[in-house]
Formats: sequence, C-alpha cells, structure tokens
Amino acid sequence: MTVPPCRFSIAASDAPIELLPRDLSDWRQGNSGIDYVHRLDSGRDGPELVIQALTHGNEICGANALLWLLEHQFRPTKGALTLIFANVEAYQTFDPQRPFASRCLDEDMNRIWLSERLYHPDTRETQRAVELLPYIENADSVLDLHSTTFAVAPMLIYPQTSTNRAFADRLQFPFPHLLYDVGNYHDGIMISEHQRHAEQGVSIVAECGQHFAESTSQQALAVALRFIAQHGMLDNAVEIPAWGYAADHQAGHYRIDRVLHAATEQFRFVAPVTGFEQYNKGELIALDDQTLIAAPFDNCTLIMPARVPVIGEEVVTLAERL
Ligand SMILES: [Zn+2]
Repeated sequence: MTVPPCRFSIAASDAPIELLPRDLSDWRQGNSGIDYVHRLDSGRDGPELVIQALTHGNEICGANALLWLLEHQFRPTKGALTLIFANVEAYQTFDPQRPFASRCLDEDMNRIWLSERLYHPDTRETQRAVELLPYIENADSVLDLHSTTFAVAPMLIYPQTSTNRAFADRLQFPFPHLLYDVGNYHDGIMISEHQRHAEQGVSIVAECGQHFAESTSQQALAVALRFIAQHGMLDNAVEIPAWGYAADHQAGHYRIDRVLHAATEQFRFVAPVTGFEQYNKGELIALDDQTLIAAPFDNCTLIMPARVPVIGEEVVTLAERL
C-alpha cells in the first residue's frame, strides 16, 4: 500500500522550546534484546506493565519520565515494568527550527497498529512497531506518554471500558478524560491494539501538555508514577511529584464522537482555535472550501485541532462534554 509521508514538518513552534532531546545512547542496549527497551523485573509475581514514550518523536516529556526511572534505578515492588522508547530514530532528528518535523520519519506511529500493516512492515515506523509488538500484546496494562501541539490542558484518552474508566478515576486526574469506542476513533492506535489483547487490562494515553514546555516532564513523571502506584507496584519510599499543571476547569469526561478530515486546502476554522472550544448544536465551526461545518450536537468540544490543515488528513476531533 502507499503510505502518506509524515506531514508535520511545517514551520516553527509558537511556544518556547524549553525541552530538547537528550542523548539516549547509554540506554540503547536494554536487557530485552531490543534496542531502547528495558524490562524492570521485581522477581515477584504481579502485573506486567508497559510505559511507552516517543510514540511521537518530538514529544520529549515521555522520554524524560523514562530517563528519570532508569537513572533512579527504579524497580517495581512486584510484577514487571517494561519501559519503551519507541521512535528514537525520529527523536534524534530534532531540529529546533522545525520542531514538529521529528514527530515521525515515514508515517504517524500511532496509526499503524493494525495486523494488515504489521504483517508487511514497509516503513521505519511499522518495522519498529513489529519489534515492540510482543511487549504490547503481553502487557496487562499500558500507558503511552504523549504531548500536544497547543498549550492546552493535559488529558487522558482511553477506550471506554469499565476497567479503564474505573482505573482513570482512581488516578484522581484533575484534567479532562476523553473516552472513545475502539472502531469509532483513529484506526491503528497503539492502546487500541493493546485493548484487543487485554480486554480486562488498562490501556491509557496521557497527553502531558505542550510538546516543548518544561512542565510536561513533571506531568509525565507524575502520571507514570501514579500509574505504577495504582497497580500496587510503587515502593512507599518513592515520592510522587505534584502534577505539572494546576487543576483545569475543563476537567471532566468527554465522549469522542468523530474525527474530521480536511477535504480541501481551503479548510479554515471560523475563529482561531487551540482546543477545548465548545459549540452548541448548529453553531459554525469551520469552512472547508464551500462546505459549512457546524457542531453536530450540543457541548461539542474541539480536541487537538491541526496547526496546518492538510488535504485528507485529520484536522480536529469532536467530543461531547458529558
Ligand atoms: Zn503524540
């Protein structure tokens, strides 16, 4: 199949670049036989957890959280915790003049976790995903650490199962939760692949703030340690840092309804948006050439609008505030 090129290379960041990638070479050789994969085994029975960073190469905070765990020689008190630096090759291409370009090499690594793509890995992202797949499939629970283009509230995103929802609520996360049905959101998301293999497990994405903001690193570590603690695997001596951000007035639960794609190059939002703008049913959100796009339901919330619309590509997610 033809694969669209990675299209995140345009322009500089509007936000200051406070975080830069670090040299990960000391952590290339893990104990798993796969580069940049470290399995921290307590030697005791218990859950198999995975925390993944760098699904998107320019989302630096997750790598910093994993580095903190490795540099502090973290060990779970039971079970095992596998730390994955996913797209290190993309991360290493970071250029502060084009900071979005290192999101991926050939294609978005969070759209490829599909059997038809991974049977015939034909890009650098699918090849890497094939290496990582056994860890994802065998994990009881997975946390995938991300960050966002715009400086909006941190958020959790997860398939709306009772297990996920109960777990996420126990995290006491004072920011938005976005719930989706697998099959009604992007195809090929890593946590959706995990959910197919671990219906009773926890599969969560944490968006930790703006890509290049220092606070995202604290947010990523705070959510990672709470994730471990909620599985009963965190030593009491480990101090959990505060969230990286103040509690957000957008906190609450949202149902992801649909993802809009730009049909033309003329796609424009009717007002500048960064995310979490809300519309009532019928209010105009955007114009796509001659087509008017209105909110299809009340409490319609824009999630992660694209900085630069590209024909055929995702341009925004619509969610209903519950
Ligand atoms: Zn991401």
